[in-house]
Amino acid sequence: MAMTDTLDIKITKTAHSRLAETDFNNLPFGKVFSDHMLVADYADGEWKNFEIVPYGPISLSPAISALHYGQAFFEGIKAYKHEDGTVSIFRPDKNAIRFNKSAERLCMPTLPEDVFVQSIAALVDLDREWIPAKENHAMYIRPFMFATDPFLGVTPSATYKFIVLLGPVGPYFSKPLRVKIETHYTRAAEGGMGYAKAAGNYGSSMLPGRKAAEEGFDQLIWTDAKEHKYVEEMGAANAMFLLDGTLVTAEAKDTILDGVTRDTVITLAKDWGIPVEERKLSVAELAEGAKNGKLTDAFGAGTAATIAPVASFVVDGEEYFLSDPATREFSNKIFRTMDAIKYGRAEDPHGWNYIV
Ligand code: PMP
Repeated sequence: MAMTDTLDIKITKTAHSRLAETDFNNLPFGKVFSDHMLVADYADGEWKNFEIVPYGPISLSPAISALHYGQAFFEGIKAYKHEDGTVSIFRPDKNAIRFNKSAERLCMPTLPEDVFVQSIAALVDLDREWIPAKENHAMYIRPFMFATDPFLGVTPSATYKFIVLLGPVGPYFSKPLRVKIETHYTRAAEGGMGYAKAAGNYGSSMLPGRKAAEEGFDQLIWTDAKEHKYVEEMGAANAMFLLDGTLVTAEAKDTILDGVTRDTVITLAKDWGIPVEERKLSVAELAEGAKNGKLTDAFGAGTAATIAPVASFVVDGEEYFLSDPATREFSNKIFRTMDAIKYGRAEDPHGWNYIV
């Protein structure tokens, strides 16, 4: 990571903390925010005005180009509280790299990786009391950037805002998922921006997601844009499978978001001597594996989703049921191992925890 000097952040604390009135037994994902947020501006070719202020509305021109042309993207990271009170952020350096890949794809300015990490760490440190000290709970960190030129020309903005929000969260999915294989809509095409965490990628996923929900599915698996034959991702998570003892997932190229959880799962699998293949995986191969029993595990992997087991999937009207998720050796071991590291109960041999 390229180091800059310690970041100068002006801090204005809230006069009215909402901590005491927050119900930590009821934390729907993305609805509860901590007391503070970090805000910075890009103008005249540089980042400036790094400030932590009370969380709240911001005032913007209705002409800002982010609202019209979608120059906007985000990240998703989690911070954890260990039993002894230590606070750690899981692999924020990976998100810093992906943040800048998104920025470049959308013709937006990058942030030095250590500025990204220091910004997040300073905010998490200030609001550390908001991190739930509870299994399956964490502080979700949402850094994002958007274009702020009040100009309706279709051209890259000259000004931007970088904001970081925090919110305590519990589990994202409550049960194993019934999954639709999406063969009409497309999330990402070669040459597109699937590898970026662009806001537009998520806007375009909502109609297919709603249709799948109306058809009785919990989630959908995207297939390739050309033939709709190959598995890409699962909703907003990477789709991963154990097929005949090998961990198989789509290669992280331009239609795939290079997930931090995906990389973590792959690294642990390799540590355990499990073969890993990052390759094209056809829907037909999946259906065949479900039929002949070689598909022993299937799950989505993501920061919010953690490890989300697939209960069944439907191909050409036929539903394929997999083994009971509670009995799956690989995904349960992955889940337990990742948690043990994140909550500080196990060694962290790869140095994934950034201690705040
Ligand atoms: N794919 C997509 C499309 C996503 O939105 C996410 C969530 N960020 C992921 C994969 C998983 O990435 P990560 O493990 O870094 O959260």
